[in-house]
Formats: sequence, C-alpha cells, structure tokens
Amino acid sequence: MPVLTQLVESLRSGAVRVVDLTAPLSSSTPTLQLPEQFGQTASFALEEISAYDDRGPAWYWNNFRTGEHTGTHFDAPNHWVTGKGNDDVASVPAARLVGPAAVLDFSEQVAADPDFLVEVDHVKQWETDHGPLPDGGWLLVRTGWDARSHSQEEYLNADENGPHTPGLSVECARWVAEESPVVGLGVETVGTDAGAAAGFDPMFPCHTLMHGAGKYGLTQLQNLAELPPLGAVVVAGPLRIVTGSGSPARVLALVEG
Ligand code: MN
Repeated sequence: MPVLTQLVESLRSGAVRVVDLTAPLSSSTPTLQLPEQFGQTASFALEEISAYDDRGPAWYWNNFRTGEHTGTHFDAPNHWVTGKGNDDVASVPAARLVGPAAVLDFSEQVAADPDFLVEVDHVKQWETDHGPLPDGGWLLVRTGWDARSHSQEEYLNADENGPHTPGLSVECARWVAEESPVVGLGVETVGTDAGAAAGFDPMFPCHTLMHGAGKYGLTQLQNLAELPPLGAVVVAGPLRIVTGSGSPARVLALVEG
C-alpha cells in the first residue's frame, strides 16, 4: 500500500492521532517582556471588520495585530544577530518544517526547581535509554510549564531578580546547536532560553548558538505529555512572512497508537 494511503487510513482509524501542540492565541496569551529600555513585542489583538452586519451583511472577519514572537511560534535563524543573513521565516525549506520528535521529560525536576537547566549529560542519558536524537528532527523539552500558560504572571514567573523558567545550560545549547543532528529546539516556555539566560555567557545561548548554526526554535508548546519519547512526527506551520524573523505557528504532532 502506498505510504500516504496507509497514513490516511491510519488517521481515519485512529491508529495515528493528531496532537495539537499549539496554545490558543488571544489577547490574553502570555507575551515576553523585555527590560524597559528595549522595544517590546505586541500582544495578539483582533480588530473586527464586520460580523454579519451593515459593514458586511453575510460575512464575519477580522484583521489582527501580533508580534512575530507571540504565542506558540517559530524562531527563524535571522531572529538573532548571530544568524543575520541566515534564512528568514519565508526562506525556511518546507521539508525542514516536518520531522521526527525526540521528547525529553524534565517535568519532575522543574516542579522542584523552576530554574532547572538541561545539561548535555541529560540528553546523553536519554540517548542511552531511547537511541540517538533523530537526524533532521526536533528536540522537544517537556517541563510541565504549559500548565501555567493561562496566566501571564505564572507563565513568566518573574521576581525582582528576573524570570525563573527552565531551559538549557550554555554547554547543552552549544552541543544541540553544533553537534546534535536536530534542526531545532522546542519548549513550553515563552522563549527557547531559560529565564535567567540574560546573565549567561554568551547571553541567551539557545538563540545565540542555535540561530548562528542556522537552526530553529519552537516556543510555547502544549500537550508534549501526549507524545512518546521517540516516534512522533512534528509538523510546524509558521506563516511565510517575507523577511520575517518568526511567526505564530500551528504546530501539530502525529502520534501512533
Ligand atoms: Mn521567539
């Protein structure tokens, strides 16, 4: 049987499920907040054009305003200065938006320590347990942080010392960017870097090193708990914004069984 026919039949029978990894996008979706001297990203906002009324009697539609990096979104290599001149979001090859997922679960560690950092040894241990990270795939970091996405305050988890959210250590970010075979890193937090990463060296190592290496980010993912450690396929769909640095994205996973 042709492989796509088999896939369609598997979707119909439920042998393959589609898991939505996307957070609902609305004006209450949490957004990144930078120190006040920097430019800020916009929250998502709908502007009604008509709603079956005298502005358009048979149709309902909206304009919307959003940051490229608002809600569940895709980070393109040109988002960071180290990736300047690398692909914008419109230039990312479509084939690289579909790939196998490796899901690493750190939700227990993060429940005990919101500043938890994934180290290279954690990834190596996962590879000992499950096999090598998939070539051309996505490294997805499950932390349980998606449970906080209903609240800007709980999601950013900031105090006078800054945000406290999990991420990768500098050495782990370097390894994923430069030595691992994955094309990107996916997280449940507001950005790919840890909350404390403004103080790392280099600062924001996931952005600095991943985008410098031409790799991608996916943020504010949900429902990673429904994915197996290995075997799911991710389909990431950012808007093809010409010259854009990223885009809100519908991110889906195909899961067997
Ligand atoms: Mn981003």
